[in-house]
Amino acid sequence: MTFPIGILGGTFDPLHFGHLRLAQELAEGLALSEVRFIPAGLPPHRAQPFASPQQRLEMARLGIAGNPLFSLDEREVFKPTPCFTVETLLELRRELGAMQSLCLFMGADAFLGLAAWHRWRELFDLAHIVVAQRPGVDGITRAAATLPAELLNELNRRLTHEPEALRDELSGAILVHPVTALDISATQIRSELTAGHSPRYLLPDAVLDYIQTNGLYKDINGT
Ligand code: ATP
Repeated sequence: MTFPIGILGGTFDPLHFGHLRLAQELAEGLALSEVRFIPAGLPPHRAQPFASPQQRLEMARLGIAGNPLFSLDEREVFKPTPCFTVETLLELRRELGAMQSLCLFMGADAFLGLAAWHRWRELFDLAHIVVAQRPGVDGITRAAATLPAELLNELNRRLTHEPEALRDELSGAILVHPVTALDISATQIRSELTAGHSPRYLLPDAVLDYIQTNGLYKDINGT
């Protein structure tokens, strides 16, 4: 039996303990064999990152170092055009084979906007979706009334509460998993740095050392 691989995409501008704790809890809670961190290149759904691709990659590398469950995937970060998740998953499927279960992680906030993603229905053919309940955001089942009808249909059809379903099937389920509420965001960290405050204890020391050595996020608004 092969265990599912988790996929955590993000800008990681910078990587912080919210990302790491989410990945650790999902890896253990769902018995995953690995979590791949995939820093985005030019993200299609949001403002452009402040740090360069090389810097965000380096911060992610430093942040995950020493955790045997975590790995870094560079396929998106240097691409000059927006990377769509569906295309990344297609590539991963080609490499890992049809028999590997994949779990795409996302926060509840991201799930609520899923129907706006490029070719979003195809995501279910390629991976399971694991929704991590992020602090300060309504749970997706509570927020169901605000979901577009087409996404609500998929949720009703695919929702499972059994982690085993992520192993038994290779893609197509939606599972909501609580994660410890760490109300940390990269936006907050950038703002602290811009204001001349220390974001220490919100992110790994190695990542903060890198930020300070390279003078990152000093002259921005943090938004
Ligand atoms: P920003 O503040 O710049 O928008 P962010 O802190 O939300 O960034 P991203 O790189 O956009 O970080 O996040 C990548 C993924 O990690 C997203 O799915 C997001 O929902 C999730 N995530 C980020 N912070 C947390 C947190 N504190 N707890 C749980 N999940 C988180």
